[in-house]
Amino acid sequence: MEKVKYYNRKPLPLEMHKVCIVQKTRIPTVEERVNAIRRAGFNTYRLESDDLYLDMLTDSGVNAMTNEQLGAMMIGDDCYAGSSTYKRLKNKIKEIFNKDYFLPVHQGRACEYMLALSYVKPGSIVPMNFQFGTSVNKIRYCGGDYVICIQEDGLNRQSSNPFKGDFDLVKLERILREKGDNVAFVRIEAGTNLIGGQPIALDNMLAVAELCKKYGVLSVLDASLLQDNLHFIKTRENAYSGMSIREIVRIMSDAMDIIYFSARKLGFGRGGAIILNDETEFEHIKTFVANFEGFPTFGGMSVKEMEAIRVGLDDTMDEDIIAQGPQFIEYLCTELEDAGIPVVTPPGGLGCHIDAMKFVPHIKRDEFPGGSLAAAIYIASGARGMERGGIDEPWEDPEVEPYGSMELVRLAVPRRVYTVSQMNYLIDRLCWLYDNRELIGGIKFETPAPHNFYDALNSVSDWPERLAAKFREDFGESL
Ligand SMILES: *Cc1c(COP(=O)(O)O)cnc(C)c1O
Repeated sequence: MEKVKYYNRKPLPLEMHKVCIVQKTRIPTVEERVNAIRRAGFNTYRLESDDLYLDMLTDSGVNAMTNEQLGAMMIGDDCYAGSSTYKRLKNKIKEIFNKDYFLPVHQGRACEYMLALSYVKPGSIVPMNFQFGTSVNKIRYCGGDYVICIQEDGLNRQSSNPFKGDFDLVKLERILREKGDNVAFVRIEAGTNLIGGQPIALDNMLAVAELCKKYGVLSVLDASLLQDNLHFIKTRENAYSGMSIREIVRIMSDAMDIIYFSARKLGFGRGGAIILNDETEFEHIKTFVANFEGFPTFGGMSVKEMEAIRVGLDDTMDEDIIAQGPQFIEYLCTELEDAGIPVVTPPGGLGCHIDAMKFVPHIKRDEFPGGSLAAAIYIASGARGMERGGIDEPWEDPEVEPYGSMELVRLAVPRRVYTVSQMNYLIDRLCWLYDNRELIGGIKFETPAPHNFYDALNSVSDWPERLAAKFREDFGESL
């Protein structure tokens, strides 16, 4: 917390909550961890909750709720049509985003499906700052395709650019000018997920919205990771540092035609929402929601979750609360960087991203440096991260194994879930692993191609056992 100065201690991120309900966890022994990752086919997606000490796979649907959210869940009005829960959430959305129409759906990817069904035809294109798996799959399913418009620095793993998620406006305008009629909409992703939760500047969003107006194309904001992005606008973009979070959201929202979000992230709940001001567009999208998701007053969400999102959205307007995620991530990244461990910079939202190509440069691309490092991190610490590289990369041609543009391990930081001491434990184990990185070996798929990110792999040697033996040598009986 920037607002608190320390007397004689090194500043640490400060939690702005007290804990009311806890969930027990344990640290499996290093031998149990080797067995678990073998059983899981060296794929962290296949580990089970009981195998984990720190679950840092994702930030989707795993954020802690407040006592006020849990309390609000009890007033959920399970009324099929005309529910007062719908009205309360709609009013909250109007208050924050100034948009009159709201369509609930069951989670973020359902928003993407509804929008693709509503606007994407064979031959359509959707320009976007960067792609996101669940989003582009729906666009392709409907016969369209996407075009990435990220500015030059966006894919730079080490950079000081505060807004790596910005659009290349020249490229976007060229596409709109040349292909205007085929553009279904422009998708603007806040807190750009796949380049490391990197923010987009408000000025850049406004310029994109301006171009959309000029060429008569819908602007659609994916606000799933808006919470972190808002913190970065407030702290990194001088023109807006004097404004409140609510004022910043208002400026952003007024410029966008449609906003959608995963409420498994924004709003600390479990659900999704599409919001807009145009009645005709609302009626158009509503028919798809009614057919595929649920009656348009709940769209597949439970009314309890809708009440929790209503209260959670107020929390996302509170600067002290939204600062914590990015501050934990910055702490993690800075401590690791100081220890010489290669991380993606500047720190973004969502999580800390470790650069596997630099951590384990001796592992070749076809033995998956990111996946191997994710397995090794689990063996060293009991923490589960997510590979972001070749394993995760979709297969365009079933004959050719694709390589990711990067080989990263993402350690997501679920909001308000872990403490600073747990982060310190993780940092310590990562430092040990870095000093022993030459022991980490590669992994290979067990099954014939093409592969899927959920498939099992195997270690190319007994490196996991050798890594565990070194752990025992250095830590004795310690967990
Ligand atoms: C997580 C995410 C989604 C999908 O949300 P789910 O609720 O997990 O389906 C969409 N867009 C972005 C940018 C996300 O980070």
